[in-house]
Amino acid sequence: VSFGYQDVAPAEKTQRVGDVFRNVASRYDLMNDAMSGGMHRLWKDRFVSRVKPRAGEQILDMAGGTGDIAFRLARSGASITVADINPAMLEVGMDRAQQRGLDGLVWTEANAETLSFPDRFFDAYTIAFGIRNVTDIPAALREAHRVLRRGGRFFCLEFSTVTWPGFKDVYDAYSHRLVPKLGKLLADDEDSYRYLIESIRRFPNMPAFRQMIADAGFAQTRVEPIMGGLVAIHSGWKI
Ligand code: SAM
Repeated sequence: VSFGYQDVAPAEKTQRVGDVFRNVASRYDLMNDAMSGGMHRLWKDRFVSRVKPRAGEQILDMAGGTGDIAFRLARSGASITVADINPAMLEVGMDRAQQRGLDGLVWTEANAETLSFPDRFFDAYTIAFGIRNVTDIPAALREAHRVLRRGGRFFCLEFSTVTWPGFKDVYDAYSHRLVPKLGKLLADDEDSYRYLIESIRRFPNMPAFRQMIADAGFAQTRVEPIMGGLVAIHSGWKI
């Protein structure tokens, strides 16, 4: 499997992704704002508006990290479980929840590839900027399908492939030259940000990823590109 520019054994990718997020955890929120010019907030708002959470629902926010999606989902009154493989990210998220007086969320350490939740437990599954870091993506999609009830919905927010020609050049230059520099300047961590950018470049394009979601058993799969495919919302239903 690929880790940044290199090919590595699957176990090594999992380990190195762990290092990346342990390194960036304390600066993660600041860096998101810096790198996206604050736009990640709008993408996340749009994403959650597509999920349409409702009071009483059970929603799993996988790779939930520091809670950005979970806090938005929680406003609906739905019950939110935040799962992430990285305890350092969860720790920052739990602190933020406490500061906001949000005590109803469940925080749990889990690998998206092998979940311990029972079959058909959740009404919705969300994963934002998480799936491309997972080593075995088909396994994670199958687990998402397994833990959803019939009629449950799957939503994924992820960087994708920019298709607007002029914008693509600007974006490539920005991401490959500037992002690692920003990572060095703001977080003293050029390598982690180099990995993050390279993992975006290697991620399957929209039709390919949509097919992977269908292959995991989801029906009525959809993709909604945002900003020419810079990011995309993929969704599907378990029927
Ligand atoms: N969802 C949050 C957001 O949108 O701000 C966090 C996204 S962050 C870029 C990616 C997260 O994926 C990290 O917190 C990382 O620990 C988590 N992650 C990576 N591999 C994972 C896996 N196999 N299972 C669960 N979480 C994973």
